Amino acid sequence: MRKWLVIIFCLIILSAGLAGCNTYAEPEDSNKPEQPPEISTPPAVPVDEPTIPLEPAKPEAPEIDLEEIRANELGKVMVLMYHEIGLKEDTWARTADNFRRDMETLYHLGYRPVNLNNFLAGNIDIPAGTTPFILTFDDGTAGQFRFIEEDGDMIVDPDSAVGILLAMSEKYSDFEPAGTFYIYYPLPFRQKDYIYDKLQLLVNWGFEIGNHTHGHENLAKISPGEAVKTLVRHVRTTESILPGYQVNTLALPYGARPKEDNHLIYGEWEGTSYENKAILLVGANPSLSPFDIRFNPFRLPRIRADETELSRWLDYFKNNPDQQYISDGDPDTITVPEHIAGNVDSAGLSGRTLRTY
Ligand SMILES: [Zn+2]
Repeated sequence: MRKWLVIIFCLIILSAGLAGCNTYAEPEDSNKPEQPPEISTPPAVPVDEPTIPLEPAKPEAPEIDLEEIRANELGKVMVLMYHEIGLKEDTWARTADNFRRDMETLYHLGYRPVNLNNFLAGNIDIPAGTTPFILTFDDGTAGQFRFIEEDGDMIVDPDSAVGILLAMSEKYSDFEPAGTFYIYYPLPFRQKDYIYDKLQLLVNWGFEIGNHTHGHENLAKISPGEAVKTLVRHVRTTESILPGYQVNTLALPYGARPKEDNHLIYGEWEGTSYENKAILLVGANPSLSPFDIRFNPFRLPRIRADETELSRWLDYFKNNPDQQYISDGDPDTITVPEHIAGNVDSAGLSGRTLRTY
């Protein structure tokens, strides 16, 4: 009986020229502006048992077996350091093919790239069972981000690091473009006509720009005053290209660090200041988790991503799985095995829930 009432009501409305009285509900489009009714409609017929469910039941999120995936958000994380990406393999250069292979290997071993600032803030949003890694590129070399001409158009060189990372993120939906480019001036990425375009594109795609001093100065060999000046000059130049962008991490040129180094964290010169949330070293082991009480972002170690070192650390984690950061899939919950829960920096959880098992 009620069903008939509904159908009759619909017929009345349809004959009055109004659509939208299907017993099968269309999904709502929140972007659509609300349409005011054109004519006054009769009061709705109460229907307490719709004959067709208005919304399909959402499938339950699969239960995650923490022991099975070995969730451990106190595990270690690799911060990878690359310099040139090019044709020749060398101490400070990786070929494009090898870089592409590194990314594929990492992906298939369950590693997912995360931006450094997200890592520092503990915002590690990757699928359950996967491991974050951080990409860093020093010196703004040509092979990191190059434009080439193709049929009269300028395109991103598919054999540059950026080209390879964008292709990876197109191929795999859970491989987000991420990485920090520690550039210096005056010619980051070595193509003078594209400095602005490249920096803007990088940030739009989701990458980060980091401080590597303004002119690649050795910070252990200049006075604190000169150091502050070169760091500020980098911040200013970057901001002139990317208005409002805050450069807030520093990779030490040559890995060189003065004995007294507070001025590398915070400094001010001629009305411009900087505050670095991390200082990145040149060597030589994985970082502690940002939730570990011993985590020190001002001495953040990096792994030189060449054939030997990257393989060595991938083997290390394979042989020592309890040392590896493994996500529980929920960025708001920090999951750690019970026996190491004492190492959690409770102040650093910033409102996240701690779960042990
Ligand atoms: Zn450098």
